Amino acid sequence: MNTHMPDCLFCKIIKREIPSTKIYEDRNIFVFLDINPVNIGHTLVVPKDHWENIYTTPTKILCEMMEIAKQLSIAIKTATKADGINIEMNNEKAAGQLVSHAHLHVVPRFGDDGFTHWHGKRPYNEGEMQEVADKIIRVF
Ligand code: AMP
Ligand code: ZN
Repeated sequence: MNTHMPDCLFCKIIKREIPSTKIYEDRNIFVFLDINPVNIGHTLVVPKDHWENIYTTPTKILCEMMEIAKQLSIAIKTATKADGINIEMNNEKAAGQLVSHAHLHVVPRFGDDGFTHWHGKRPYNEGEMQEVADKIIRVF
């Protein structure tokens, strides 16, 4: 599905049915501030057409999103004096996706902002690493 979805929050934002604080837009992409920021300046990069996640979004559009995320990273870092930037994309509920319209998060980070990275659960068991690599390679 690549047209606007009537019940989708981000489609409504793109159609101006819901207000947002726009940073940038072009033919295919819309960029606006996240309403509930991890840190001030947290921004979302969203395709204008409704694609649910990374699996279905056309590669060309994903590349355009990433190009903009790069430029935006530098702009946000400069504007907010951030010490670093996280780029994040949540895909499906289990991965924390709340809005089912594909988007990249561009998040300014500060040395003292109190957030930590996720922690590894455990090291691989003997042979397990190659086993999972083989499984992935088979379908890649
Ligand atoms: P995700 O969990 O990756 O789907 O992220 C969805 C993001 O959308 C969250 O960080 C929300 O804070 C953000 N969000 C929800 N509603 C709005 C809105 N009306 N305007 C801007 N950002 C929003
Ligand atoms: Zn949508």
